[in-house]
Amino acid sequence: MSKPVYGRVLLKLSGEGLLGDADYGIDPAVSRRLAREIREVREAGVELALVVGGGNIFRGAGLAAAGMDRVTADHMGMLATVMNALALQDALEQEGVFTRVMSAIKINQVCEDYIRRRAVRHLEKGRTVIFAAGTGNPFFTTDSAASLRAIEVNADIMLKATKVDGVYSADPVHDREALRYRRLTFDEVLDRKLSVMDATAIVLCREHGLPIQVFDMTRPGALMDLVLGGDVGTIVERG
Ligand code: UDP
Repeated sequence: MSKPVYGRVLLKLSGEGLLGDADYGIDPAVSRRLAREIREVREAGVELALVVGGGNIFRGAGLAAAGMDRVTADHMGMLATVMNALALQDALEQEGVFTRVMSAIKINQVCEDYIRRRAVRHLEKGRTVIFAAGTGNPFFTTDSAASLRAIEVNADIMLKATKVDGVYSADPVHDREALRYRRLTFDEVLDRKLSVMDATAIVLCREHGLPIQVFDMTRPGALMDLVLGGDVGTIVERG
C-alpha cells in the first residue's frame, strides 16, 4: 500500500457536512461514515486534528439577521460547534479512535480547554484532537479557526471538506462547462473571490504558507485518496 504524503493534517468539517439528508442536526449515519474514514487515515499513520463548524445548528450571522445581538448569536454558534465536536468524538471512539475535544471557550466539565502545547502532545501520542468553539471570539468563522489551529499545531496542510470536488471555474452543478482547478495560489483565490474560505482564513494561510486542499468529503474514500497523494480536489498554495 502507498504511504501517506502528510504526517499531520488538520481536517475542517462544516456543520452542514453532518446533516446528511436532514435540514437540522446530525445524521448518525453520516458521523459514523466520517469516523470510519478518519480511523482509516489514522491507521495509515497520519496525525489528525479536526475543526468542526456549527452551521447545521446555529450560525451567528443568521440569528443576527433575525434580530439577535450578534455577539450572543456568535456565542450560540460556537456552542453549536461544541455539540458537533462531542457527537464526532462519540462516533470516533465507537470506531476505536482515541480522541480529545478541546474548546476555545471554557466548558471544562464537558471537554478540555484548548492549550496548544497539550494539543500537540495529544497529536504526538496518536490521539485525534477535535478543536471546538472556533477561535473563541465572535465575528470569526470556523474556517478561520481551522487556519489558526493548523498553523499553531504545525499541520502540513489544511483539508477543507466540502460537497464539491474542489474549486471550479463556475458552479459545476449548474454549468457543465465548469472546470476544476487542480492548483491555485492564495492571491488567485483572493483576487477572483473564489469561494474557498473567507478572506480572513485565506490571508492567515497565505501569511504562514499553509496549503489548503478543498475536496469532496461526501465521496467515500476521498480523504484517504487525498492523504495518499491522489489527484483529488484543488490545492491552494503559495505561487
Ligand atoms: N463562530 C464564532 N467564532 C469563531 C467560530 C465560529 O463566533 O471563531 C460562530 C459563528 O456564529 C458561526 C458559528 O459559530 O456562524 C458556526 O460556525 P461556522 O458558521 O463557521 O460553521 P460551518 O459553516 O463550518 O458549519
